[in-house]
Amino acid sequence: MGTGTVTYSEACSDALVKLTDAGVPEAKENALLLLEYICGSRRQDMYLNPGRILTEDECAACRELISKRCERIPLQQLVGSQSFMGLEFIVDCNVLIPRQDTEILVERVLEDGAAGKNVLDLCTGSGCILISTAVLGKTGTAVGCDISHEALEVAKKNSAKNAADVSFYEGDLFEALPAGLKGSFDIITANPPYIRTEDIAGLMPEVRDHEPVGALDGGADGLIFYRRIADEACGWLKEGGRIYMEIGYDQAEDVSGIFAAKGYKDIETVKDLAGLDRVVTVRR
Ligand code: GLN
Repeated sequence: MGTGTVTYSEACSDALVKLTDAGVPEAKENALLLLEYICGSRRQDMYLNPGRILTEDECAACRELISKRCERIPLQQLVGSQSFMGLEFIVDCNVLIPRQDTEILVERVLEDGAAGKNVLDLCTGSGCILISTAVLGKTGTAVGCDISHEALEVAKKNSAKNAADVSFYEGDLFEALPAGLKGSFDIITANPPYIRTEDIAGLMPEVRDHEPVGALDGGADGLIFYRRIADEACGWLKEGGRIYMEIGYDQAEDVSGIFAAKGYKDIETVKDLAGLDRVVTVRR
């Protein structure tokens, strides 16, 4: 692709060929989204003004971003954001990219009612669960924690971007929290790392090579964080408080068993839009 005479539609076709050759899934959608990001255009511009000539800067950005996408860097990291629950979240390589499946968890929390309730989000990452719950659910005190300093920097930007009244603590699960918050939460949410260590090598390159492994690796059986949450959450929850956790599609039985053994009640599984087990919720 030369510069100076490349039209919008030529740039799209060129991107499509390169992304397809590199094995990028949904190559056409990726090509269109990257062009729209680079040119500040809308989907209909492809059809209304296909002959628009790209500027030199736009051509240079195309070369750079298409080649990065061909290296399987996630689209969201290239454009710097992802929407979640209708809100926009900044993402970079230090946070798990918010997933549509995770919206199931937040939807269930909102359905159960979060107004005025105190919420703790463990492994908050980008902060997408905490911030969307706080903003959409009009919660009381909303607190997130994460072991990653870099992730919390992103989460803080996201709370400012979405005007959320939340605070963050850095540390390993509950160790991050001031003791004064013990027994104060109505709701605990968590999308902990839950991939079995040996399964990580088989993930898509976008996830395996570009998302933080600390946000994915749940240990040999993928369940270590659920065991730790089951052991420790009681002390932080009010009587009758609920925990909502995202799980892998094949972990509902194991996770339910871990919490049942510790005396948690009203254990329920929620399915995602594909009909797969996605969330386990339990009551103290
Ligand atoms: N809470 C964030 C999310 O759901 C990050 C989860 C994680 O890092 N495991 O996207």
